[in-house]
Order: sequence, then structure tokens, then C-alpha cells
Amino acid sequence: MNNIKAIIGGTGIYDIGTDVYSETIQTEYGDVAVDIVNIKDEKIVFLSRHGKTHSTPPHLINYRANMKALCMLGVTHVYATVAVGSINNNFGLGDVVIINDFMDFTKARNNTFFDGTNGVKHVDMSDPYCKMLRVKFSEYAGNHNIDVKGNAVYVCTEGPRFETATEIKGYRLLGADVVGMTNVPEVVLAKELGICYSAVGIITNWATGFKDEEITFHDIKGSLKKNKEKITSAFIEILSTELNKAECNCANSVISL
Ligand SMILES: [Zn+2]
Repeated sequence: MNNIKAIIGGTGIYDIGTDVYSETIQTEYGDVAVDIVNIKDEKIVFLSRHGKTHSTPPHLINYRANMKALCMLGVTHVYATVAVGSINNNFGLGDVVIINDFMDFTKARNNTFFDGTNGVKHVDMSDPYCKMLRVKFSEYAGNHNIDVKGNAVYVCTEGPRFETATEIKGYRLLGADVVGMTNVPEVVLAKELGICYSAVGIITNWATGFKDEEITFHDIKGSLKKNKEKITSAFIEILSTELNKAECNCANSVISL
């Protein structure tokens, strides 16, 4: 199978129409359930990061199984949505941002496929999020009334606890704009597999202590609902077009020693 693209969703399930079938992919890391949709002449795989019933907490997601399953299906390009807390005054509730870099403060995750069995390998992180997919989303958004507030650096924490107010202050000082618990190692594993990967963030809350108010998620459903349909249809439209791997360096990011 060729020309297969994927959309990874987090919080919130997508309404993806009727021409859908489900498949369970058996990987060496575990089984992964996906929905596959025929759209135009393309197949688009939908993967729910937390499992179909949203039952897996962020620190226990089997990231390696998820990304390996996409690879085994022949997926070449992935768009993901991430629900994030804001630690930047410019990004408020419900805003849409394009993630362009990350900081990793996770602690206890299987975060690589490179376990030494095939020699020593490293992966280049100078452009962790596929530049070509980022530019295409930005252009599409500009032409279709999706208000992208800008690029954002994502800090990934281990969870499931939220961050302390002091941690949030520190992350802001280090240059982060938004905080979440799921984008690492997902983005790294995609790059190890040579898959183009881009993530779009939706702000669902202010991070701890950032606005001198308690962390609240009263807006989480409203924020997601407002934007998820527009973002999903943007993903589908872009992924349904011809995408050229030569326009980015994602397929050549692994360095073997
Ligand atoms: Zn790429």
C-alpha cells in the first residue's frame, strides 16, 4: 500500500464520516486499533492517541506501538493535534498554534526505536516537526479562515500530574510557549522512522499559576469543538494532495555510526 497518510488525535474524537473501517495492527510493541477512511483516492488512517475509548493516560501511552503501526501501514505523512496549556500571554483559550520545536521533560518513557540491536543510531532534531507540513498547514489556514496565532515551542512533561507554578515559570524562562504530556516521544519516533510529522496545538487551559487562577478545564470541550472540525478538514485536504518527500529532510534524519 502506498500513499497512506495519517491523522493522530488526542483529546476529543473526530467525526470522520461513513466510509470507514477499523483495523488492529499487531506490532512487536503491542496491538494498535486504527480507523481507516477512504477519502477521494487516498487512504487516511485515524489513530486515537489515548486509545479508542480515551482510557490510556499520557504517561502510559504505547508510543512505540502507535508509531510502528503507522509505519507498518505504509504511512508517509502524519498530522497530529495536541491539546495544550498556554504559558505565553499571546496564546489564549481556544487559540490554534503550530508546534515548531519541543523541550523534553519526560522521565520514564520508551522514547526510541534505536535500542542498539542494529548498531548505534542518532536522529537529527534540527527540524523535529516537518517543515513542509508546517508550511502547508500555515498556508491552508491563511486561505481558509483558520486563525493560527503563531509558532509555539512545546514542553512535554511526564504527567499525569500537572506542573507546579514554579515549574511553569521555569519552562517559560527556558523558551516554551505551551505545555502538554503527549508530544514526546511521538514526534521523535516519527522522525526515527522517516515519517513526516507535524503537530497543531489547541490551547485548552492556562498552565498552573500562569494567570493567578486555579487550573480549569471548563473550556476544554468548547475550545476543541470550535477548532477540531476546521483543523481536521484542513489536515484531510492537505494530506489528499501530492506531497513530495524531497521538499523536506525527514527521510534523511537518521545518522548511523
Ligand atoms: Zn517532512
